[in-house]
Amino acid sequence: MEQIKIPEEIGVLPLRNSVLFPHAIMPISVGRRKTLSLLDEVVRNNELIAVVSQRNQADDDPDPSGMYRVGTLAKILKVVKLSGNNVNLIIQGLRRIRVDRFNNMEPFVRAGVSPLGEMVPAGGEDVEVEALSRSMVNQFQTLLQTSTQISADLGEMVLSAGTGDPERLSDLASSVLSISVEEKIGLLERHNLKDRIQKLVKIITREVELQEISTKIQSQVADEVGKTQRQYYLREQMKAIQKELGEGDDKTAELEEIQKKIDECGMPEEARKAAEKEMDRLSKMPPQAAEYTVARTYLDWLVTIPWSNQTEDNLDVIHAKKVLDDEHFDLVKVKDRILEYLAVRALKKDLKGPILCLAGPPGVGKTSLGKSIANAMGRKFVRASLGGVRDEAEIRGHRRTYIGSLPGRIIQGMKRAGTRNPVFILDEIDKLGNDFRGDPSSALLEVLDPEQNNSFSDHYLEVPYDLSQVFFLCTANMLDTVPPALRDRMEVMTIPGYTEEEKLEIARSFLVSKQMEAHGLTDENIEFSVEGLRTVINDYTREAGVRNMDREIANVCRKVARRIVEGAEGKTLVDTEKVRDLLGSVKYFREVAEWTDRSGIATGLAWTQVGGEILFVECTKMKGKGKLIITGRLGDVMKESAMAAVSWIKANAESLGLDEDMFEVTDFHIHMPAGAVPKDGPSAGVTLTSALVSLLVDLPVSSDLAMTGEITLRGKVMPVGGIKEKIIAAKSAGIKRVILPEKNVKDLDDVSDSVRDALEFFPVREIDEVLDLAFGTALREKAAAAAAAKDAKSA
Ligand code: ADP
Repeated sequence: MEQIKIPEEIGVLPLRNSVLFPHAIMPISVGRRKTLSLLDEVVRNNELIAVVSQRNQADDDPDPSGMYRVGTLAKILKVVKLSGNNVNLIIQGLRRIRVDRFNNMEPFVRAGVSPLGEMVPAGGEDVEVEALSRSMVNQFQTLLQTSTQISADLGEMVLSAGTGDPERLSDLASSVLSISVEEKIGLLERHNLKDRIQKLVKIITREVELQEISTKIQSQVADEVGKTQRQYYLREQMKAIQKELGEGDDKTAELEEIQKKIDECGMPEEARKAAEKEMDRLSKMPPQAAEYTVARTYLDWLVTIPWSNQTEDNLDVIHAKKVLDDEHFDLVKVKDRILEYLAVRALKKDLKGPILCLAGPPGVGKTSLGKSIANAMGRKFVRASLGGVRDEAEIRGHRRTYIGSLPGRIIQGMKRAGTRNPVFILDEIDKLGNDFRGDPSSALLEVLDPEQNNSFSDHYLEVPYDLSQVFFLCTANMLDTVPPALRDRMEVMTIPGYTEEEKLEIARSFLVSKQMEAHGLTDENIEFSVEGLRTVINDYTREAGVRNMDREIANVCRKVARRIVEGAEGKTLVDTEKVRDLLGSVKYFREVAEWTDRSGIATGLAWTQVGGEILFVECTKMKGKGKLIITGRLGDVMKESAMAAVSWIKANAESLGLDEDMFEVTDFHIHMPAGAVPKDGPSAGVTLTSALVSLLVDLPVSSDLAMTGEITLRGKVMPVGGIKEKIIAAKSAGIKRVILPEKNVKDLDDVSDSVRDALEFFPVREIDEVLDLAFGTALREKAAAAAAAKDAKSA
């Protein structure tokens, strides 16, 4: 090396993008005009060149300021001409030089240079250099193990070429490192060996660290990818195992079946999305998972409730009238309303269903009329009982997060119906509860409101369901307990209960033939006489409807059927005697006469949930301090009526011929022993007064007389409700005369002729009139006698 002579002036080759170190051999390709003319000259004269790196790699023709001042003296080892102006060169670095000055720039760059630094002989004895160079070798080896940028071969070559020669090793190592040109120039500049190796160790150490970090990042990324791949792999394996066990097939078949149903059931977009989402979840779960069953049940619900399936309405009014009449007696108002609806529906297709409410006592045919309506219209029929429903979730369903959750009664009913336009009976809406578990009536409002029931939301389904095509029909025994908001939505039709004649008609035209058929009896086996049926009605049942009568007729049929099977011959005529024989002792007596033969008792008429009732008011007196005791099934309003009655009597004691002082020393006890719970109302006012007066003057009230009416403190008789039911009850209890407030006379129009004709009615305005009717002239005579006795005494 020391022999190399450096010429005074030398051709310069600017190098892009890399740095040539002494000892290093480097292939480069050149094509720039200046470089080519440099080559011409140098190759011809076999000269050395100076290789310096450009500061800016993009610079095609760098001027002196565009080149580093430190460079390498180099020898051209080989020149390979390629097509065009391109030439490949192999050059070898010889030693460090410094460019002192650029002499000229054309036709190629020429510069005056001087050597940089002293040459250190191979195998330098400096211990520090030795130590440094060992650590350099170590680090370089570590780098080689991890680096992806330096190939193992190249690394090995550097190490073997540099063995025992730190100078050479440092230059070769610097040359192969993938670091920036600036940093490499920094190394080239350091002509002091120790200095240079120190710097190099630092750089290599940093590179090792960088490499480690990048490996770590890469392996993390690889981990992530690996996890997904692993899951995929495991899932495939699971499928294979399930297939082997014969389970996978079931699941696949099951999923396919559900998918088919989803495609076919015609669900709206929103429901479909929910179903597809659940399907996706399901397909990823093993069938043993608890979640699987939950998801499956949900999908089952989604695909089985009727989304698009519906029946064609039969809007033929004549046909409908026939069906309704064939199945039910009377109920004219309700039937008319239904027929009107059908007629309008025939003219206006998109009519929303009305929400009818049938109100009346049990057994008057509310539910069975609903069935007939469905028959007449050709719709399906479903029924949901709301009696005792306290929890909103029973109407609207439980959220799916609850174990064992299900849709509410509405959606369950729709599933049973199987069509989206059934006749849907909501039974007993007056028995809806309401407590901390939420208000079920508000959920019902949503069901019944035509404005919003096209997107009814059930907590379980989670997707809206269209109820707007459903014909809702509600039933109730009494309207008082129906939440007012709900009552507003409905068109209420009351069915008051049947008279004996009507019951007889229903029995003859409907129930008897129905029960005969149900028991396999024909006209040849059995015949019911009118008297026999009347006996059933009067002695074996006491009801506003006909449910118990139906049951007793069934009872008779059953017993006759048994006798026939046991060998009895001929036809059984069911008359009064036969009824007594078959049904046993009489269940209800006409007890009025028996009750009212004493003083202190009066017969009232009451209205209860199950129709009209006769009601006995019983009172008694005892020594005391003027207290009023009231017992029996009485509400607050009834108690107030009793107090009003007592006050009126006290105020009118003189005219009744009573001793006023007696109220100070007597306690009164009023009791109502009736079985049924009367609706709490003031209509017992006149009865209470009559019973008390009867007690005080010791005269019995006529036993054929019943009464109803409210009283004021001044003795006026005020109108009351439920007249029709009360009168029917009075007649069936064997009453002959009825006292009623004058203002209620108009209500008698609702009562059928057969009942009206059997009774005598006395409209009254004042309680005095009531007392005259109850006691006849006896009361006035007694009062006159008492007054005379008093006068005589005072005189
Ligand atoms: P509700 O729902 O009012 O309690 P149901 O509909 O259950 O009463 O009626 C009880 C029974 O009485 C049924 O078998 C029904 O057919 C019969 N029924 C009631 N009213 C009539 C009627 N007007 N004509 C014919 N059958 C009737």
